[in-house]
Amino acid sequence: PVVTRFAPSPTGFLHIGGGRTALFNWLYARKLGGKMLLRIEDTDRERSTQAAIDAILDGLKWLGIDWDGETIYQFSRAGQHREVAEHLLAEGKAYRCYATPEELTQMREAARAEGRAVRYDGRWRDRDPAEAPSGAKPVIRLKAPQTGETAIEDQVQGRVVWQNENLDDLVLLRSDGTPTYMLAVVVDDHDMGVTHVIRGDDHLINAARQKHIYDALGWDVPVMAHIPLIHGPDGSKLSKRHGALGVEAYRAMGYLPAALRNYLVRLGWSHGDQEIFSTQEMIEAFDLGSIGRSAARFDFAKLENLNGHYIRSADDAELVKSFEDVLHFIPQGPTLQAKLNDTTRAQLLQAMPGLKERAKTLLELVESANYIFAERPLAMDTKASALLTPQTRALIGELRRHLAEVTEWNKATTEAAMRDYAEKNNLKLGVVAQPLRVALTGKTTSPGIFDVLAVLGREISLARLQDQSQ
Ligand code: GLU
Repeated sequence: PVVTRFAPSPTGFLHIGGGRTALFNWLYARKLGGKMLLRIEDTDRERSTQAAIDAILDGLKWLGIDWDGETIYQFSRAGQHREVAEHLLAEGKAYRCYATPEELTQMREAARAEGRAVRYDGRWRDRDPAEAPSGAKPVIRLKAPQTGETAIEDQVQGRVVWQNENLDDLVLLRSDGTPTYMLAVVVDDHDMGVTHVIRGDDHLINAARQKHIYDALGWDVPVMAHIPLIHGPDGSKLSKRHGALGVEAYRAMGYLPAALRNYLVRLGWSHGDQEIFSTQEMIEAFDLGSIGRSAARFDFAKLENLNGHYIRSADDAELVKSFEDVLHFIPQGPTLQAKLNDTTRAQLLQAMPGLKERAKTLLELVESANYIFAERPLAMDTKASALLTPQTRALIGELRRHLAEVTEWNKATTEAAMRDYAEKNNLKLGVVAQPLRVALTGKTTSPGIFDVLAVLGREISLARLQDQSQ
């Protein structure tokens, strides 16, 4: 059975690239009826924080990515890591290295001066530890092969080959007894029964070094798939100057998890020309062979369009929930939250078919739903107040009187009343609709005006019209 894993380091937020890596691992496991495990790589005690762990867990949950079994914390496995290093030492496959920081600096500088890659020269590989200066604390290094080559059959990159003379004896255990990332990943993946390692191609070089550790231990190397990193629209590696990097920021900008998921799956993976995938379709269609070898470029406009599609096709009641969710992240959130009650929720639900047609993000949805929560007297935006001439105010008064005669108040009856008025006075419906819009919403654009009238109800509609009439 297939076992994949997502192994983030909790040093910040859930990176958008990490979200994609998690998604690919999840899809692959779900497709093959396997498991996806979550391992928090918190071995770096200085840089790991609980806030970052929470952000990663929240981000995954929000994206709809679940994992099997308990979350594994790498730091808690330090004992196993140490044991494996000791075992390699006992087997003669690793050795204690007493090179001083000064010696290592010299090696680095010499390499730089000669313009070659920095390598540890293996000076303690065959030396008698009895020669070590007394009290010196050694690191434990792997006896890596010094000749020949190391190859990985990568599912995305193809066959990748390294010359062993260019790789050195990597550190397994630091002098304070803590394991290195390289050792911890191998031991954990092995103990967790991981069959497929799917991760960013920034880890490709690590794959060669990890293979050395697997080989020394006589363990099978998992199948590897190194996916190209995400780049910005200009082709350079995605960075802050391109826009938001954290999954949480996309949540706060009003993207739906289903839309972001759909966007991310298409970032570097394709299935013919298909752009829109339900979760089930994604699971069925996903494969490692269709991940591209070149970096995918982040296209913000495409994400926005996709989000608009998902908003339009979302269930209205679900959208009310999404609306409430995004309020946690925006400045006007608390004000609107305070106004949420059964009545306003029902109004939101009623207004949703009109609101969702126009919104590409939940923030736009909130913006156009503002009329529901606005208080009297309504604040007018600049364009709206420019329209409020004495003439318009007089017309608003007229319209109000006609609407006041409508007793059974809904979209159809208010529309009939206004059509009737327009016809009798030889006016286009738009000429009637615009003053109503301004008086009822404070803006010159809004969802359909009869939807607005219906959602606000008779009392509030008439009151707002009264406020602006003359
Ligand atoms: N913890 C590593 C990272 O966040 C990933 C390690 C791996 O996938 O092997 O980049």
